[in-house]
Amino acid sequence: MTNQWEQLLAVQTLDTTITQLDHRDRQLPERTVLADLDAKLSEVRAETAAAEAAKADLQRAQKKIEDEIADIEAKIEHDNEQLYAGGSDPSVLQSLQHEIETRRGQITSLEDDELELMEQVEPIDEQLTALAAQQVQLDDQAIRATADLATKEAEIGVERDEARTARDALVADIDPEAVARYETSRKRLGGVAVARLDGGVCGACHMKLSAVEHDRIQHLPADAEVECEDCGRFLVRS
Ligand SMILES: [Zn+2]
Repeated sequence: MTNQWEQLLAVQTLDTTITQLDHRDRQLPERTVLADLDAKLSEVRAETAAAEAAKADLQRAQKKIEDEIADIEAKIEHDNEQLYAGGSDPSVLQSLQHEIETRRGQITSLEDDELELMEQVEPIDEQLTALAAQQVQLDDQAIRATADLATKEAEIGVERDEARTARDALVADIDPEAVARYETSRKRLGGVAVARLDGGVCGACHMKLSAVEHDRIQHLPADAEVECEDCGRFLVRS
């Protein structure tokens, strides 16, 4: 009959492998790469939104000026109609002409304002083009990093599945009560519950057993439960 402690030591080895694989999975450099890319993408998106909002403000201001110009042009047209309607009072005609001049001056001034606004839109458009290119590049990198991560995760997944399958097969042959005690002990002792006793030295804490304890153990049956007197882990005798 296979020694139960020997079997639990084999389970322990697989559990340690699974823990290491989980750790390797969490620490995959591709995760950091992806997180960095996500952060950069969020930044680019925020900058794009801000630039678009600034552009929309300028366009609204531009539209307002255009409306004002259209309004004044309508008034000029009205003045012109009156002017050509054939009134003969020179003072009225002069006043109308003066009004038309004033309105044209207003239009010129508004057109200058509009031009200024359009000039302000130009660098924003350039910025938006650059941001869009940056986003395409980052999206591209993120797609590749995601694929790289998936590949690494799958590789680890295969190893983990193999270890779990082997573990399940081992555990099926061990007394469930012993497995339960192993699990409890493992949680309490930082993941390691069973160690090999080699030359009187505990394979987990590396402390040498006292001569008395070592002698006592030697005389116990092969499958007797033995614990390290220092760390409390189950010991497997060679
Ligand atoms: Zn120990």
